[in-house]
Amino acid sequence: MPEQNKLPTLVMKFGGTSVGTAEAMSQAVQIVQNSRQDWPRLIVVTSALSGVTNLLLDSAHQSARGQVHQLYEAENRLRITHDAIADRLIQDLARSVQVKQEIGHLIAEFSNLCRAMAVLGEATPRALDAVASLGERMSVRLLSAALEATGVPAQSVEATQLIVTDRAFQNAHPDLKATQERTRRVLEPILAQGRVPVVTGFLGATPDGVTTTLGRGGSDYSAGILGAVLPADEVWIWTDVDGVMSADPRAVPNAATIPELTYREIAELAYYGAKVLHPKTIRPVIDAGVGLRICNTFNPQHPGTRLVADSAERSRGEIKAVTAIRNQRLITIEGRGMLGVPGVAARAFGAVASTGTSVPLITQASSEQSICFAVPASSNGEVIQALEAAFAIELAQHDIDRIWATEDVTILTVVGAGMIRTPGIAGRVFSALGQRNVNVIAIAQGSSEVSISLVVDASDADLALGALHELIVTTNTGGAQ
Ligand code: ASP
Ligand code: MG
Repeated sequence: MPEQNKLPTLVMKFGGTSVGTAEAMSQAVQIVQNSRQDWPRLIVVTSALSGVTNLLLDSAHQSARGQVHQLYEAENRLRITHDAIADRLIQDLARSVQVKQEIGHLIAEFSNLCRAMAVLGEATPRALDAVASLGERMSVRLLSAALEATGVPAQSVEATQLIVTDRAFQNAHPDLKATQERTRRVLEPILAQGRVPVVTGFLGATPDGVTTTLGRGGSDYSAGILGAVLPADEVWIWTDVDGVMSADPRAVPNAATIPELTYREIAELAYYGAKVLHPKTIRPVIDAGVGLRICNTFNPQHPGTRLVADSAERSRGEIKAVTAIRNQRLITIEGRGMLGVPGVAARAFGAVASTGTSVPLITQASSEQSICFAVPASSNGEVIQALEAAFAIELAQHDIDRIWATEDVTILTVVGAGMIRTPGIAGRVFSALGQRNVNVIAIAQGSSEVSISLVVDASDADLALGALHELIVTTNTGGAQ
C-alpha cells in the first residue's frame, strides 16, 4: 500500500485526565472526530483513566504485604469508574454490556494477580507490569467503543502486539527495528480500512510476548515510538494544560504557555521536572523528523506548544522557562587524597547506581578535592551508606575526609537555547538571586548548553523561582507572553 502510506498520518495521545471522566472522554472523542478530515490516517494512543495506574500498583504492593482486604474496594472502584463512562458514552446497550464485560474480565485478572502476590508474599517487577498494564487495557476498550458510538470506526489494539522491548520490567527499552516491523504489520491493515486504531500507551512486550511497561508516564513515549516507526507526520500529546508553561503555575501565578520550544529545550525541561512530557518521548521523534505538539484536551482551540528543530536563529538568548526539582539533598565527597586518583568518580557513581538512585545534577571543582551531586532526599540515607561502604578503605586512610549531605535543597533550572552564549544573561540570573538574598549553594551548566541549574536551600526555592521567572518577562522580547 505505498500510496496509502503517503497520506497525512497523525498519532494522538490522550493522557489520564483527558479520558478520566465521561466529560473528558467525550471531549477526546470530539477531538478525534474533528481531526479525521485533515488526518485520514489517525492513530490514537491512550493512558489509563487518571488514578487507575496508581490504584493498581498500590493494590499490588499491599497484596504482596498480605493486605488483601482492600482488594474488594479497589475492584469496585475500577468497575464503577469505567462503567460510569460506558453508561454515558456508549448508547448501544449490547455494545455497552460487552465492553463492561471485557473490563470485568480485566478486573478479575487484576484480582487474581494480586491474590497470587499475597500468597507468594512478593511483587516481582514482572508481576507488577502485568498488573500495571491492566489500566490501559481497560481504557482502550472504553475509548474505542466511545468513538464507535459517535460513528468513528475504531479498533482497540494492545501495544504488546506492536512495541517489542527488552526484559527490563517497569522501565523497558524498545527495540525500534522489531517494533517497526510489527507496528506496520498490525496497524497498516487497520488504517487501510479507514479505521482508527486505539492503542494502549505505556506497555510493550518482550520478543516472547511477556508484558512490560515503559516506565511511569510512559504513554507519551509510546506515542513517540509509534510516530517514529510508522512514521507519522506529527505526534500530538493531549494533556490538561495549554502546552508547556514557563514555570509551574501553582508556584508562579503569571506563568504562561511557551508557544515554541526547540527539542533540546524541551528535553532539558522534561529532565528538570516540567512534568508535561515524558523525557524519553523526544528522542525517537527527533530522529525520525516527526513534528511534536502538546495541546490541551479541555481547551482544544489553544495552539499549545509546538516543538521545532534546533536552529541558530531560534537561539536568540531568551530565557524560556524555569523549573524546580524539590526535595533533593546535595551529597559531597571530599578529601585531599582524592587529588589525581583515577576512578573515584566512577566508583562513587557506581555506588549510587547500585541503590537504583538517579542523579539529576553533578558538579566537581577543578581542584579535584571534592565531588558533589544531588540525589532525592528519600534516597539520601541509602546512598550515603553505599558510598561509605564503597570508600571504606579511603575513609580509614583519610584519603577521603568525609561524605556528607546538606539539608533539603531545590534544584532550579533556567532553560533557553543560546542563553549561555548570550553575554549578561548568567549575570542577570545571579543578580536576581543576589538582590533577594538567596544563597546559591551549587551551580551546574546543562551539558547541552541550553540550561543553567542552581541549587538553593529549600526555604528559598519559591522566592528564587519567582525572581528567575521575572527574568523571562523582562529579558525576552518575543518569548512567553
Ligand atoms: N498510566 C501510566 C502511568 O500512570 C502511563 C501514563 O499515563 O503515561 O504511569
Ligand atoms: Mg503523562
